[in-house]
Order: sequence, then structure tokens, then C-alpha cells
Amino acid sequence: MDIPHKMKAAVLFDYGDLRVTEVPVPTLGVGEALVQVNSVAICGSDPAIIAKGWKGFPKLGEFIPGHEFTGTVVATAPDVFELSIGDRVAVEPHKGCGRCENCLRGNYTTCLNYGNYDIGHRHYGFSTNGGYAEYAACHVNTLHKIPDSISFEEGTMLTGAGTVLYGYERIGWVRPGETVVVTGPGAIGLMSAHIAKVLGAGRVILTGTREERLAVGRELGADITLNVREVNVVEAIMELTNGIGADMVVECAGQPGPASEALDIVRKNGRISYNGIYHDPVTMKLDKIVQWNLLITGPKAEGMLNLGRAIPLMADGRIDLKPLITHTFPLDEINTAFETFTGRVGGAIKVIIKP
Ligand SMILES: [Zn+2]
Ligand SMILES: [Zn+2]
Repeated sequence: MDIPHKMKAAVLFDYGDLRVTEVPVPTLGVGEALVQVNSVAICGSDPAIIAKGWKGFPKLGEFIPGHEFTGTVVATAPDVFELSIGDRVAVEPHKGCGRCENCLRGNYTTCLNYGNYDIGHRHYGFSTNGGYAEYAACHVNTLHKIPDSISFEEGTMLTGAGTVLYGYERIGWVRPGETVVVTGPGAIGLMSAHIAKVLGAGRVILTGTREERLAVGRELGADITLNVREVNVVEAIMELTNGIGADMVVECAGQPGPASEALDIVRKNGRISYNGIYHDPVTMKLDKIVQWNLLITGPKAEGMLNLGRAIPLMADGRIDLKPLITHTFPLDEINTAFETFTGRVGGAIKVIIKP
């Protein structure tokens, strides 16, 4: 295939000013493949990246955001033997430097050389150009082949699914039969509820304020949903667990209230995974962590190759996140897509851009 020299891409010209323009197709460095982007999902973190930029991001006028994407390999650097032209791939946003202690131990999402492009760190759509473009140059470490049974659209959900799986890995996985409470039915919360069932949870309880989101949660496998506007969640969960509390709480609301309340609904010897994005400090009863022997963790993105773990589960339909995809837009309409996403127009959950 002939690779053109120019491509369309959504470039951040100024804070809050994202526009589609023509830019050079990226050239390949060592270990990289050129991906013809098919689908990119808007992530909850994208509006803030567009409004404020990101630590170490490329210059205004050059930065292409977008980090939940899939496509087809159309060219490879001479040293790349792992991939062939025509391979369908999902892109993992993080590539560690590969030489710091955290990377060497496999914890590349917390690379100690974050943003150091020269020694090989990449974070596509954050500190490195990403996927709101016709083409993206990605390192082979970040490219996961996907089978034909995963559509390019659903494949964009693999980044989220990988993050959810990494969260469960950090907290000791879901043990068969456990009661898991997921707080906050955003995209990550809904995926957490679905994947808890896939991993063998006995019962998944999803809490939130928006009835239409809770309904999607039930469609994805949540056994019980609690609307926090209608019931006292702490009392309801204690009643549902014979006064003991949940084996695990996965906090996905990102708000101080539910973050602190997680300690009121978890059992003794229970586990809490904090998966939200917390802008404000949270006051909580830390003594309970000691007295109740609690385990508390948080996942930094789709670490330890958990994106790859999600692929066979999605390929045969055990992980089925298609109900989350509510809208698709061509690249030229990216700003309408963002308005749809942030305004939750038409019940928008995951909005996909098609370059
Ligand atoms: Zn994301
Ligand atoms: Zn590193």
C-alpha cells in the first residue's frame, strides 16, 4: 500500500481549540509500526486534556490527542518482526521507557521516566501524539493483534477493559462467589460491573444517581442496582450482606462522598479499589484500614499487559461492551462528538470517532 505524505488529524491549536487539519504522516522510528486508525473512543480524560493540555505534551499546534484506538498495520520499521502489514490491532496508550526500575519490573504505566521521549517513553494521546488522526506511529510493545470477531469499534473499549482488569489484578482479582459493589456507573464503572461477573463474582451491586446508566449496568450483568437518590446505600448494602458488608468495593464515581463511604460498605478483611479520578482531597476514616485489616489499591491505567488479557475474553463474547457504544462520528465532526460526549446528548456513554 502506498502511504500518503499528508493526513487529516485533530490538532490542539490552543487550550480548548481542537481542529481538524492536514499534517505530515508520522515517520517510523526503531520498533514502530504505522497504524491506519479505524476507530478512536473519546475517553473521560480527553475533555480535560483538550482544555488544559497534559504534562510534557507536544507543542500547541502539533499535539494530536486520542488514546483509545484500533486500526490496521500498514507499514513497519525494518526491525519489526512481530507484526505484519494488514494486522488488525488495538493500541495500548502506555509504553514505558523500558529501562527504569518500574519498567523492568513490568510496572510501565508508572514509568519513572514519564514523558522522556528521547529515551523511548510514550503515552499516546497524552505526552505523545495519539489517535485522532488517519495514521499513528506506535511502538510494537503497545500493539495487540485483535481477531476478526472483535470489531474495530468494540476494540476501542479494550483500553478501558484493560484498566478494569489491572484494577482487579492489583486488588487480588475477584474470587468466585464474592459480592462486589461498584460505585459510579460511568464507562469504567459499567465495565467494572460487567467484568466482575465475567471473573466469577457471585453478586454485583452497582450504585449511582442516573437511572438510565443503572439500566445499562443491569444489561451488562449487574445483579442489583441502587439509586443513591432513592435509598440509603450504606443501609441497603448492609441489609443485602447480612450486616457484614461487601467483599470488595470498586469506587468509580471519583467523588469524595462515595470514596469515603466505601469504608462504610466494605466488610472486615475486605478490599477497596479506587478507580476514579479524584480532583479533591477526601476525608476518610483511615483507622478502619488498620482495625478492619483492609486492602486498598488503585490501578494506574491498563498496566501489566491487561489490555492483552481482555482480548480473548472479548473475542468470544464473554466481555461484551457493545452496549456502551452509543454514537459514532467522522473525524471532521470531532467537536460535535465531544459536545455529544460531555453533554451526554442522547444518553451518550462511549462516543467513537472514525478517522
Ligand atoms: Zn482513556
Ligand atoms: Zn520506565
